[in-house]
Amino acid sequence: MNTKVLSIVIPCYNEKDNILNLVKRVLESPIENKEIIVVDDMSKDGTREILENQVKPLVSKIIYHDVNGGKGAALRTGFKAATGDVVIIQDADLEYDPNEYPKVVNPIFNNEADVVYGSRFLGQKRKGYFANRMANLFLTKLSNIFTHLRLTDMETCYKAFKREIIQSVDIQEQRFGFEPEITAKVARLKVRVMEVPISYYPRTNEEGKKIGFKDGLRAIYCIWRYRK
Ligand code: UDP
Ligand code: MG
Repeated sequence: MNTKVLSIVIPCYNEKDNILNLVKRVLESPIENKEIIVVDDMSKDGTREILENQVKPLVSKIIYHDVNGGKGAALRTGFKAATGDVVIIQDADLEYDPNEYPKVVNPIFNNEADVVYGSRFLGQKRKGYFANRMANLFLTKLSNIFTHLRLTDMETCYKAFKREIIQSVDIQEQRFGFEPEITAKVARLKVRVMEVPISYYPRTNEEGKKIGFKDGLRAIYCIWRYRK
């Protein structure tokens, strides 16, 4: 039996169609001991009512922001509250599959890695917007130049960390700049970073995807800003 605990941090902004389903899938995922932390980033679409009435009894903690800060801000709040051995990020949509947690977190539970990224580019052929795919590849390569990591998917949501590591990093980016920032800061720590293949079920903008062109430009800036 594995006695280690996985903290799952869910940043959530206007996800009324997804949040309950997602939390149910997280609960069913094959990890024995989980701590589920939802951070509501000031949703205005009815998500809060769903959280209060339906999600609350299913999770460990719900934390409410009183202003919309962005994914990075929501994660910062969630990481502070985490108490498990390992922390993984889970977006509040269904683009990633919680059944794949063991693949991502077992290397840390088994002390083979300190940080694991789930890559959408290893293994299976990736779906989704062509432009997003190209942007992800480009940003990953650019980030690698500065970090000397050899990642294939820097922008992935599935990032898992030993709790002490993620709690030791000071995160400044409010929005999606979080991804290059954390990658640069982890690279500096000289810890063991591993990538494993994961599946990806992309959603469209109409289905609520919020990342956009400006976030891509910001990512380039962040790669430069947080370089060594
Ligand atoms: N998110 C957030 N605050 C925001 C925007 C997004 O907490 O201001 C959350 C959102 O609910 C989702 C995650 O951050 O759980 C990633 O957002 P999205 O799926 O739109 O972006 P992508 O999957 O393209 O990174
Ligand atoms: Mg998403």
